[in-house]
Amino acid sequence: MVNFPDEHGFFGDHGGVFVSDELKPVMAEIREEFLKCKDDPAFVEEYKDYLHNYVGRPTPFYFARRLTERLGGAKIYLKREDLNHTGSHKINNAIGQVLLARRLGKKRVIAETGAGQHGVATATACAMFNMECIVYMGEEDIRRQELNVFRMKLLGANVVSVTQGTKTLKDAIDVALADLAANYKDTYYMIGSAVGPDPYPQMVKFFQSVIGEETIEQSKVAEGVLPDYVLACVGGGSNAVGMFAPFYNEKTALIGIEPAGKGLETGMHAATLCAGTPGVLHGFKSYLLQDENGEPLPAYSVSAGLDYPGVGPEHSFYKDSGRAQYVTVTDGEALDAFCLLCEEEGIIPALESSHAVAYAVKLAPALDKDKILVINLSGRGDKDVHQVLEILNKK
Ligand SMILES: *Cc1c(COP(=O)(O)O)cnc(C)c1O
Repeated sequence: MVNFPDEHGFFGDHGGVFVSDELKPVMAEIREEFLKCKDDPAFVEEYKDYLHNYVGRPTPFYFARRLTERLGGAKIYLKREDLNHTGSHKINNAIGQVLLARRLGKKRVIAETGAGQHGVATATACAMFNMECIVYMGEEDIRRQELNVFRMKLLGANVVSVTQGTKTLKDAIDVALADLAANYKDTYYMIGSAVGPDPYPQMVKFFQSVIGEETIEQSKVAEGVLPDYVLACVGGGSNAVGMFAPFYNEKTALIGIEPAGKGLETGMHAATLCAGTPGVLHGFKSYLLQDENGEPLPAYSVSAGLDYPGVGPEHSFYKDSGRAQYVTVTDGEALDAFCLLCEEEGIIPALESSHAVAYAVKLAPALDKDKILVINLSGRGDKDVHQVLEILNKK
């Protein structure tokens, strides 16, 4: 894998540490411990042991025969992150960071959550390690994600309603950063995607890279070669960077799929890389959806896990350098792909992951039959069936 970022936390023009003076030493402390842990075989072995025995890794690399036949082009494989404990890739990162928090001697873990998936993964990891867990969540999101709020409470977390601003994920991150500034002596902030000030983007990449590393090994066993294409949806960018980074020095084409929502022209989307401009949000520089004053614009997607107005700095760097390509699919295309995967493969995908499936539906038929295309199926769709039912009923 590549040695990004540089010593200041930059991936090309993006990343860095844009935080208040009181938070700078906090980030430095986390960075120092993370760099130690990632090169400590005992730490890595403990992390891998939990991934195996608790999360259920390695996840399968599944040949989607019926989907391949239906689309009539490239051979399609699914990397089954949906089969992880708690139902998505988010647990890979939560386990890694909770082990780091323990190394730092912190007893209290705080996290932000939008749709609730990272909150559930954090509450799960904290339950297992007997850590106090506080999850900040926008009042609006609490209302929309009742079931995940209850899950977090069952797991022993204290879910705190955030009533400022738009009452959504962006505001929950602001409140979590303020909590950290006030309580850093005993508190660890667990960020849920490859975003935030350094070292978070490189740390989340490190803990999610197991996805791409396994895919490389599994593709060699199944096909004798690496895939020609790998596809992943991009919200903050953690499942995508975990899949892409191990392929960085290979020839494999990397394609990230952003949510075009109701269409880029409507302004109701969350296509940060495809439609944003560089700026600073939540302590790091990257492409952003922002107005002329640098204020973040409200982001929208049918999939709650993708509607964030920023994106991980490593993706902004991949975009600038051309190493990865970023495209969009609409809500409607994602919903069609959701239904298609249910019917053809008996797999209910998360609405987030359905965006990657939707792009495969466009791309695969145009490719030769000997090409290999992998979709990172980042999560399962049980959490989304109620929402999909309501949408389909309205049609
Ligand atoms: C949270 C989530 C995402 C989006 O987050 P990334 O950091 O971009 O991976 C994608 N898929 C699922 C299933 C999620 O829960």
